[in-house]
This record gives sequence, C-alpha cells and structure tokens, in this order.
Amino acid sequence: MLPSCLKCGYRIPISWLGFSNASTKYRCIKCCALHESTDSRKVSEFILLISALFFVIKLDVLIESSLSRAMIALSFLLLFSIFVPGQYRLVENDEQHNRTQNVDANNNGAN
Ligand SMILES: [Zn+2]
Repeated sequence: MLPSCLKCGYRIPISWLGFSNASTKYRCIKCCALHESTDSRKVSEFILLISALFFVIKLDVLIESSLSRAMIALSFLLLFSIFVPGQYRLVENDEQHNRTQNVDANNNGAN
C-alpha cells in the first residue's frame, strides 16, 4: 500500500518517507494535516540499514562489484522503508493549522 494521508487519504510523496530525515514533518497538500514520523520508523530504518550492510558484505560471492551490491542494497532499503506500515502519525497539536482554521472561521463569520 502506498503511503497516504491519515486524514483524507491523499497520497504522501515517497520522497518524504524515503529521503527525508525522520524528524522532518510532512503537511498534506490537500487537507493540510500535519504528519510526523513515529519511533517505529526510526527502528525500521535501523533494522533495514543493518540488513543492507549484511547484504552488501555477504553477497560478494554473487556480485563482484561492491558498488553494484551497494546500489541493490540501497534500492531495497528505499523500497522497504516506504512500505513498512505505521511509520507516521497525525500531529495532534497542530498549532499552525489551528490558527489558520480560526482565521478561516473568522472570515466566514464576517461574510
Ligand atoms: Zn490529507
């Protein structure tokens, strides 16, 4: 299953899960819900990194080029890091968004 917004289901860019730092938050471009990484993301990234290292070291019998092994390991790492479930959650206390909503409510009230 592709990563998607926990509020509206709109897709979340793979780059956020695959490339960004675990402390980087992501705001849905459709409903503005703020998402943050959970501890399970950090744990799974660590496990995947170990597996990748193991893979790079052990596969020297099959693939001679260490660069190729590293590339394959990296691809797997990226792929798995995207599809591991429960890696992100909604930020409960989203101050910036709440402020925006209040402004919207005020505007609606004025109209
Ligand atoms: Zn959304």
